[in-house]
Amino acid sequence: MEDNCIFCKIARGDIPSATLYEDETLRVILDLGPASKGHALIIPKTHAANLFELPDEIVEKVFVAAKRIATQLKEGLHADGLNLVQNNGAAAGQTVDHFHIHLIPRYENDMVGITWKPGNLSEADKEDILKLFR
Ligand code: AMP
Ligand code: ZN
Repeated sequence: MEDNCIFCKIARGDIPSATLYEDETLRVILDLGPASKGHALIIPKTHAANLFELPDEIVEKVFVAAKRIATQLKEGLHADGLNLVQNNGAAAGQTVDHFHIHLIPRYENDMVGITWKPGNLSEADKEDILKLFR
C-alpha cells in the first residue's frame, strides 16, 4: 500500500466506492467520470504503478476478472460492444499511477472516442521491431 495512492485506498475499502465485485486480490468499481453507462475499473489491492510492475500472478487474476465482469456488464446493460483500456504512463493517458483496467461498454453510435488515425507501417520500423523479437 502506497500512502498517497487513491486507488490503494479505494481497493482496500478505506475510501468508499460503488463496488461491483471484490475478492482478496482486487476490487471492481464504477468510474466516477464514466465514458459510457457501465464504465468500470478493475483495481488490484496490491500497489503496482502500471502493467510493467504488476506481478504475473495478479496479471492473471485481473484479466480473468476482466473477462467475467465484461460479460456481465455487456449482457446486463445490453451493450453492443465493450472496450478494455489499460493506460501505462502519462504519455499513454494514465492519470492515476496505480494499475487499473477500464471496462467501457459500447453502444451503437455512442460517440465514445477510443480511436486513432491509422498510419503506415514503414519497412524501417518493421525491421527495427522484428529485430527486437528475434
Ligand atoms: P487513467 O486515465 O487510465 O489513469 O484512468 C483513471 C480513471 O480513474 C479515470 O477514468 C477517472 O475518472 C477515474 N477515477 C479517478 N478517481 C476516481 C475515484 N475516486 N473513483 C472512481 N473513479 C475514479
Ligand atoms: Zn496504489
